[in-house]
Amino acid sequence: MIDHSTIERIFDAAQITEVVQEFVSLKKRGVNYLGLCPFHNEKTPSFTVSPAKGIFKCFGCGKGGNSVNFIMEHEHLSYPEALKWLAKKYHIEIEEKEVTPEEIAKQNERESMLVVTQYAAKQFSENLFHGHEGMALGLSYFRERGFRDAILHKFDVGYCNEKRDDFTRKALDAGYRSEYLVLSGLTIDKEGYIFDRFAGRIMFPIHSLSGQVLGFGGRIIKSDPKAAKYVNTPETEIYHKSRIVYGIFQARQAIIKEDRCFLVEGYTDVLSMHEAGVENVVASSGTALTQEQIRLIKRFTPNITMLYDGDPAGVKASVRGTDMVLEEGMNVRIVLLPDGEDPDSYSKKVSEEEFRKYLKENETDFIRFKTRLLLDEAREDPVRRANLVREVVRSIAVIPDQINRTIYVKECSLLLGMPEEVVLDEVMKLRKQQSFRDRNTWPVQDAIVTPQAAPQRQKKREETSYYSEKEILRLLIRYGAEVLSRVTDRETGTETITTVADYIISEIEEDELKLNDPVFAAMYEEIKFNTGQGMIPGERHFVHHPEPAISATAVDMLTEKYTLSSIWNTRGSYVETEDMKLKELVPETVLSFKSDKIKILQKELIKEMSQAKGDDDRVAILQERYKVMTSLQKKIAYSLGKRVV
Ligand SMILES: [Zn+2]
Repeated sequence: MIDHSTIERIFDAAQITEVVQEFVSLKKRGVNYLGLCPFHNEKTPSFTVSPAKGIFKCFGCGKGGNSVNFIMEHEHLSYPEALKWLAKKYHIEIEEKEVTPEEIAKQNERESMLVVTQYAAKQFSENLFHGHEGMALGLSYFRERGFRDAILHKFDVGYCNEKRDDFTRKALDAGYRSEYLVLSGLTIDKEGYIFDRFAGRIMFPIHSLSGQVLGFGGRIIKSDPKAAKYVNTPETEIYHKSRIVYGIFQARQAIIKEDRCFLVEGYTDVLSMHEAGVENVVASSGTALTQEQIRLIKRFTPNITMLYDGDPAGVKASVRGTDMVLEEGMNVRIVLLPDGEDPDSYSKKVSEEEFRKYLKENETDFIRFKTRLLLDEAREDPVRRANLVREVVRSIAVIPDQINRTIYVKECSLLLGMPEEVVLDEVMKLRKQQSFRDRNTWPVQDAIVTPQAAPQRQKKREETSYYSEKEILRLLIRYGAEVLSRVTDRETGTETITTVADYIISEIEEDELKLNDPVFAAMYEEIKFNTGQGMIPGERHFVHHPEPAISATAVDMLTEKYTLSSIWNTRGSYVETEDMKLKELVPETVLSFKSDKIKILQKELIKEMSQAKGDDDRVAILQERYKVMTSLQKKIAYSLGKRVV
């Protein structure tokens, strides 16, 4: 397996003209390059390379693709092999287990850094418990907040003296090399002027699972409006923020024993929980959990309980980011603390016993919690309610375990007052979508996948919406980010901008239409998802997509002189000027897509009617539906006709 970011780096480095030119001599022709096709015999060149799009295409034999596809085809390699071939050409390291001298040097470097951080932790602890300044400022801070020395020792907390280079000087005097002091993030070297990163802060060492000190979090004590309240070790060779959670070393035994892990926000929250006798607790340091952090916790327990401050806005934000934890198959629960309290403050306000009792009695299952929270927000508003159902269904759908999903479906249909089958149906639909399952883990396929061999395509294309779906996708990919309309609100003066992607997505979603072709559907979901996040993916994104079936389809769309939708054929040639006609082209394409979908529905209705023969009531209902479809169809034909005139 080659990881996603490495694949991206390979694509970034492997410029298509450069890669092709290694095998084919190319001549510049306008914005493109032209040469003799290496895949079939030809005397006049029809092999085209587009550096702007990052693709090649032969108009003689039809072969086309991105730089990786070219190497696959030319060197007869599989997808991963071609990636490795290019990685080698561009000196991009692919992580594989084979130790080189450089790696040994890196290893030594890491060890030296660990020695330095260990020394630093000891030094800081010395300052806190025995230094004048540390005792006066640091230790008193902890004591005032009711922390016992035992807890402070357990977490190895310390203090970094205020004098700008106090720690660095001491370390250098003790024989530690400044190189490693800087590399481990403890010391800052500003053009030869060397000083401490954490001067005047109380120090929380961040331990690895085995108790090595990887980095530090430093909290300022004196109020200084110019200084950040918390400063952390930057990313170093040994400290990767996204891979570790604070307190895991001290908590892991308790997590196993209790078969549960509490998640809080800050360092002092962790310390306070220990103080209150709850030792199975870690902190995410204020950010949403990463997948690596979740997996780290999962090594000890599948049960995670998140503690939230009783601030509704904060809760909502965090709740929305929690699906990832569900996706990892964890059982997630929530405890909402009383209004205005955090674990630190609340555990100190009540007795140890009361605190633990509160946690126990206020634990709610995450999905139930989310459903109630959103229900409360939505009330009787039908649009919001529909969104709510979608959100809840989403959370249920990511749960990998089927039995758990079934239980949630039952419970949520009760809470939402909806039939169980409806909720289950929605969950299943969502799970079937390729892009939904694979969003975070597009697999690098091991088999040879030629660009032409997209899997499981529809067979009888004439009878389906294949072509209108393709046209929809093509518009999204080529023009998604283009502005379709701007509307200025006269009263407020605010401008609402609708992009091509906004328009198409809202049209499709409002009518709850689905794309049938699995590859198109996956691409559409990806566009929808990213557009929702404010980033509309364009040509490059799909041409260089790690899923070969998708990059092949994108290349196809951008090169093929394909059949435009029927409306367009009747109107002659548009290809050169279509970007100027988006205002017409986009709504028309959406309409003919809808028209195709209605045709399919009507066909199904006719089939159903013949099956329902004898059951007059049923037939009447079906006929009624058919009539509605026909009138819709007429309306669409009318607006298409009006536009075509
Ligand atoms: Zn060719």
